[in-house]
Amino acid sequence: MDKKKSLTIIYFIIAFIILLTLERYFLTQQALSINYSEFKSLVKDKLVNNLVISKEFIEGKFIEGGAERVAQLRNLKDQKEINFIKNSKAFYTIRVEDPELVKELTEKGISYSGKQEVTWVKTLLSWIIPIAILIAFWSFILKKMGAPGEGLMAIGKSKAKVYVEGETNVTFKDVAGVDEAKEELREIIEFLKTPEKFLKLGGKIPKGILLVGPPGTGKTLLARAVAGEAGVPFLSLSGSAFVEMFVGVGAARVRDLFQQAEKLAPCIIFIDEIDALGKARGISPISGVDEREQTLAQLLSEMDGFDTKKGVIIMAATNRPEIIDPALLRPGRFDRHVLVDRPDIKGREEIFKVHTAKVKLAPDVNIKVLASMTPGMVGADIANIVNEAALLAARKGKNQVEMKDFEEAIERAIAGLEKKSRVINKKEKEIVAFHECGHAIVAASLPNADPVRRISIIPRGISALGYTMQLPTEDRYLLTKSELLDRLAVLLGGRCAEEIIFNEVSTGAQNDLERATDIAKRMVKNYGMSENLGPLAFEQNRLLFLESQWERRGDYSEETAKIIDEEVRRLINEACERAKKILKEKIYKLRELASLLMEKEIIEGEDLKKLLED
Ligand code: ADP
Ligand code: MG
Ligand code: ZN
Repeated sequence: MDKKKSLTIIYFIIAFIILLTLERYFLTQQALSINYSEFKSLVKDKLVNNLVISKEFIEGKFIEGGAERVAQLRNLKDQKEINFIKNSKAFYTIRVEDPELVKELTEKGISYSGKQEVTWVKTLLSWIIPIAILIAFWSFILKKMGAPGEGLMAIGKSKAKVYVEGETNVTFKDVAGVDEAKEELREIIEFLKTPEKFLKLGGKIPKGILLVGPPGTGKTLLARAVAGEAGVPFLSLSGSAFVEMFVGVGAARVRDLFQQAEKLAPCIIFIDEIDALGKARGISPISGVDEREQTLAQLLSEMDGFDTKKGVIIMAATNRPEIIDPALLRPGRFDRHVLVDRPDIKGREEIFKVHTAKVKLAPDVNIKVLASMTPGMVGADIANIVNEAALLAARKGKNQVEMKDFEEAIERAIAGLEKKSRVINKKEKEIVAFHECGHAIVAASLPNADPVRRISIIPRGISALGYTMQLPTEDRYLLTKSELLDRLAVLLGGRCAEEIIFNEVSTGAQNDLERATDIAKRMVKNYGMSENLGPLAFEQNRLLFLESQWERRGDYSEETAKIIDEEVRRLINEACERAKKILKEKIYKLRELASLLMEKEIIEGEDLKKLLED
């Protein structure tokens, strides 16, 4: 509820209370409030008259001596009060269920009359309040449906927030590690700055630019930076805002957005998460017509009808390009695609620089090392880590953020929050220690495995009881078969160690097994790394930069499927044998390392190296 509305309601309540008190005041003006037993005693001695009996009250006048009687009955000391009571002419009392009353009054000859209780406050209550509730409810529903502005008439108004020049306050300096994307967008900025110059030369400017990349890589930030660099207004709208319950609202929004843009040109229209338009099919519970289709059609027709010469550039962002309606990607629409990929080690270094610029760093902070500790992380993760590190330092009362804080923040980001309070029993701790040491020893013994940076058995998050952190020396885009095989052996090393030491396995290896199986499957199906099947790919990937969203499509026979399964099993079994062989050879080291780990809970990579070299 907005401020205005709640204020109105407060006013209403105040007015209501005032009315109520006023009514009570007039009703009981100069009338003395007496209790029912006092009233009865007055009736008995015939000291009252002219009674008006309503549903809840009995009002009436005192006859001479009536008021005095009340004063007597109350046994008061204070002369002032006694005088006050003696001076009152009328009274009222709360009515009590008393079937004999009328008879009694008639006997005593006291006059009385009935009164129908229709006060206007009651009317107010029975009419206005239900209506008010209805209106409040209705406007709440409208709000829920996403109608902006006030009332029904504004439903079609665009939700676009207009950030006028200077307000985005973001420039390319704030976006790091995406140099290629920036390079591609420079041209757009030049055009927005001086459209005339471009058009005079007959240059053709793309109408729509689609920023594609995993979540958190800075797509939204980049779009705002383009507006900031060019110094033009930025109209942004999220794809999901288009999709409304009412038919035609989405389409009306699109129309409205483009009208606004025309007035503000040169400017940028930015549609964030445009895939919402693509996946919203059938979301509308009220309309039978497909709302998304209408909205999409409107967007397409606006884009077609729009002339870039007016200086409006339409940008959009998505992390799921594969589900976007192909109609949106055709020439003349979002035909320019800019990839905003996960940053590499240099990129992460720059992003760390951007985000640590506002933080007071201790001299021991090495940004290069930080970048090397965060492979696979995106800008949003890094922003989060820097913030977390600063918070940690502040909590400890430091006035600088030290490397240790960053390391802890990174660990937290990797493995969830440290749960120091959680107790694992001794047996569990032993199993986890051997498991992690199994990973570490296999990793340290294989030539192509990433070096071990740290082993820890401090429980974190919900599921990870311990972890072995390997530090890739560089980001890898290509992996050789022997590297993948080593990786498999390292993943299985934990479980194998458990098997060798305890002669049984625990549930702790589930994640390892999933990852190992996944790698083995890909080796067979995607990379053609199985001798028995030869260099054939049994699955095609449409999207290479989003590992989790590989489209899986297989067209092969049942027999091939069987061979694939066998091959995957063979790879895993062989890796397991390798890991076991290594661990059996180094079983003394394994025991030594495990007991050290149980004692210290954390072992650094260098200590591990020393221990293994002895
Ligand atoms: P996306 O739209 O791609 O999901 P955002 O642009 O919303 O990601 O990024 C979220 C936040 O993460 C940004 O506000 C910024 O603080 C940080 N961030 C992401 N990418 C970068 C980057 N390349 N450089 C600097 N900061 C970044
Ligand atoms: Mg975004
Ligand atoms: Zn493991």
